[in-house]
Amino acid sequence: MDSRLERIYEEALKRNPTQPEFQQAVREVIESVEPLLLERTDYQEAAILERIIEPERQIMFRVAWQDDQNKVRVNRGYRIQFNSTLGPYKGGLRFHPSVTLSVIKFLGFEQIFKNALTGQGIGGGKGGSDFDPHGKTDNEVMRFCQAFMMELSKHIGADIDVPAGDIGVGAREIGYLFGQYKRLVHRNEAGVLTGKRVGWGGSLCRTEATGYGLVTFTKAMLGTRDDSIAGKRVLVSGAGNVAIYAIEKVQKEGGIAVSISDSSGAVYDPDGIDVELLKDIKEVRRGRVSEYAELRPNAQFRPDAKVWGIPADLALPCATQNEVDANDVREMIANGVKLIAEGANMPLTPGAIEIAQAANLLYAPGKAANAGGVATSALEMQQNASLQAWSFEAVEQKLDEIMLDIHSTCLSTAQELGVPGNYLVGANAAGFMKVADAMLEQGII
Ligand code: GLU
Repeated sequence: MDSRLERIYEEALKRNPTQPEFQQAVREVIESVEPLLLERTDYQEAAILERIIEPERQIMFRVAWQDDQNKVRVNRGYRIQFNSTLGPYKGGLRFHPSVTLSVIKFLGFEQIFKNALTGQGIGGGKGGSDFDPHGKTDNEVMRFCQAFMMELSKHIGADIDVPAGDIGVGAREIGYLFGQYKRLVHRNEAGVLTGKRVGWGGSLCRTEATGYGLVTFTKAMLGTRDDSIAGKRVLVSGAGNVAIYAIEKVQKEGGIAVSISDSSGAVYDPDGIDVELLKDIKEVRRGRVSEYAELRPNAQFRPDAKVWGIPADLALPCATQNEVDANDVREMIANGVKLIAEGANMPLTPGAIEIAQAANLLYAPGKAANAGGVATSALEMQQNASLQAWSFEAVEQKLDEIMLDIHSTCLSTAQELGVPGNYLVGANAAGFMKVADAMLEQGII
């Protein structure tokens, strides 16, 4: 790394100690945009990099609530309002015991560039809590969401900051959060949250959007090598919203998705995942992937295993950060995988990315490949602002256009920077430039 950039990075390490995920995300972006940063003296003079890695605002708060036994519980809430250059802060809320300041900051940082790539006029933010919804009753989840919103409501608004879902936050949680927000501010402000149910301001195709968009992006990547998804065997990790709808769309495209996973282990279903059964187990019963394996004739559940050792053509990691390491990628390559597109945020470790790129795999980072979710959130905001409700087909068509636009932007930017076919550099540099140019125009703030 260039010595000037190294100094900025060292400074960031000092200012953000014990934040490994955030440091990792910053390093990846700096390395990707290095040629650009060295060439653009206007960026250097305006300290664009130094400013972009410093969140505009970081909110941390206590969330106290009572469980069903009336026992008082305490969690920590976060909202990082990272960058509002392109529009209101936008990004999901994650409820998971692994949530720390570092995790929320890495997610918020990634969100800046992802949201810029969508071209939808949205800034970057992220929030959440170390609350674990697993094993909680609906009433407990509701009381937690209400307590969380007591504080969050002071910081958000349709033109300020618009949260949505992420891991552990789906339509149920958004419902409780929205109900409480409405009660607190005493008005119906539909555009304050996205991922709402369709009957009260939600958008058709928002549930499907991240997974569907991921597969549209994957299809475009394969298209650059005159290939398609039809007939391909596809590894999917995770079993949440992104994984489910990625599997559904792979199957619509004639591919065969053969795996799912959760924190207890991996499932291999050689006959192809039965997506309706998976939806019933995950979305209705809130069960585990082992239950899926029990109900399918040839499926095997492997406790504590990952899915990456299964022979396949394509890999779509849709679980969580750093779930794929260098050895996993070596295993994938040995088993025939030719493409990795990230459905989760930062699922590949830096070592894993290095191996994938050295082997000339088609590899796309999450901030490009999984941008369909937040892009469709922006479409939900547009419908809310204009009091409209568009058809499923209309939203899906716009989603496809946005994904194909991101795909071609990544490729053309990579080409201009002399690294043709490098989606990592293309996505980071294109997203960075959109934000950086607008920051220059808005002055030193
Ligand atoms: N959590 C999703 C993401 O990582 C969606 C955010 C949103 O819709 O605001 O992009």
